[in-house]
Amino acid sequence: MNSLYEAVIGLEVHAQLLTETKIFCGCSTNFGNPPNTNVCLVCLGHPGALPVLNQKVVEFAVKMGLATDCTINRNSIFARKNYFYPDLPKGYQISQFEKPICEFGKLVVVKNDGSMKEIQIKRIHMEEDAGKSIHDQEETTLIDINRCGTPLLEIVSEPDMNSAEEAYLYLSKLRQIITYLGICDGNMEEGSFRCDANVSVRLKGESQLGTKAEIKNMNSFRNVEKAIEFEIKRQIEILEDGGKIIQQTLLWNAEQNIALPMRSKEEAHDYRYFPDPDLMPVEVDEIWKSEIEKKIPELPDTRCKRFIEQFNLPNYDAGILTSSKELADYFEKVTEVTTDYKSASNWIMTEVLKVLSEGKIGISQFIISPVNLGNLIVLINNKTISIKIAKEVFLEMLKSNQEPDTIIKDKNLLQISDTTEIETIIDKVITANPKDVQEFLSGKEKVIGFFVGQVMKESKGKANPQIVNELLKKKLSQQK
Ligand SMILES: [Zn+2]
Repeated sequence: MNSLYEAVIGLEVHAQLLTETKIFCGCSTNFGNPPNTNVCLVCLGHPGALPVLNQKVVEFAVKMGLATDCTINRNSIFARKNYFYPDLPKGYQISQFEKPICEFGKLVVVKNDGSMKEIQIKRIHMEEDAGKSIHDQEETTLIDINRCGTPLLEIVSEPDMNSAEEAYLYLSKLRQIITYLGICDGNMEEGSFRCDANVSVRLKGESQLGTKAEIKNMNSFRNVEKAIEFEIKRQIEILEDGGKIIQQTLLWNAEQNIALPMRSKEEAHDYRYFPDPDLMPVEVDEIWKSEIEKKIPELPDTRCKRFIEQFNLPNYDAGILTSSKELADYFEKVTEVTTDYKSASNWIMTEVLKVLSEGKIGISQFIISPVNLGNLIVLINNKTISIKIAKEVFLEMLKSNQEPDTIIKDKNLLQISDTTEIETIIDKVITANPKDVQEFLSGKEKVIGFFVGQVMKESKGKANPQIVNELLKKKLSQQK
């Protein structure tokens, strides 16, 4: 980036809540049902049909607010946001405007250079989603109302971020918290966690904000980063050429890696917000708030700190293991079987995560149970098997999820620690390689590695490497 300029970025995130029913009616929020089947008079927008607020939505909003250090407003108000769109049958969306449920929050991200940055959350409010227009049919547009009335949280940051990296980290942190809370699945690709970015640039040192453009349609973390980088560059180029930025909405095109204008951006007053006369103000009193607070699980930052202290893990390990709640749960279940926490961490961070990323699956779909992985580590530590054999057993467990003990017995993989048996193999190897023995005796101690390899091969990887090493040195020296 041109060093004369500074980017200013604010993010608006829409998170679809994991309630069973919609925000103002009893229709199912189930995804993938046949079009226009999860509908009723309320979400179809029939005149006079009355909305009834889903209590769970308020509870989820308060959870998110508490988890991000927000003030929970005792009273908040639903407002109508008026606009016409074919998939919005009422002609307005019920949202919150002047009095949202949560305000003045913050979260902290750690940047790649190790520095920390606090990002303020301006507000979190509850609202309903619109339906879906499906344009890819031949010359027609089809409307599916199923999504109408699906509960959303809109989480609005202050324009506190100055780079695509910071935006990426903020978004990741938000997603981590919301999935720990279990109130949203955080799936960007499927659209249940969506992000719009407001981007402007200004000369460094200037206090006034530049004209912003809003970018939509970024359906992955990678795209958010790329789109913001693109937009910062575009705006700087315009300013450098003496041009002016127009306030507009851009759509990110992930195939071409460009943002294209969609429409000029509306101002809030274009929506003619007014309090919804069909809905009472929402009241969250201290008693309800503290009941909700009790249901908040241990959050990622706290859990990461605990992992460092309780399991004596490096920051890096603890950060990765607590990146998702499910992975952290898995690790803790392994530690119920083995106290070798660092090995447990290593196995998860290398072997397990490799399988997950190759199969594009989450830890919940991982076949090896934490108990079996823990037992595998125990078997290495009590010298029943070597690490090399353990990797073989691990591959076998991936196929069958049998207990490691069973696999070792069935495949006859027990480590050989019996010295007589190992000595027999060593003698055989020494007799077969007289030249290498001479080299060893002439002082080339490095050839010992060759001998170890041969013995391990001969024993099919089962010989205890420590014993092999000791015996080899002794036997080779005796060849003189
Ligand atoms: Zn309905």
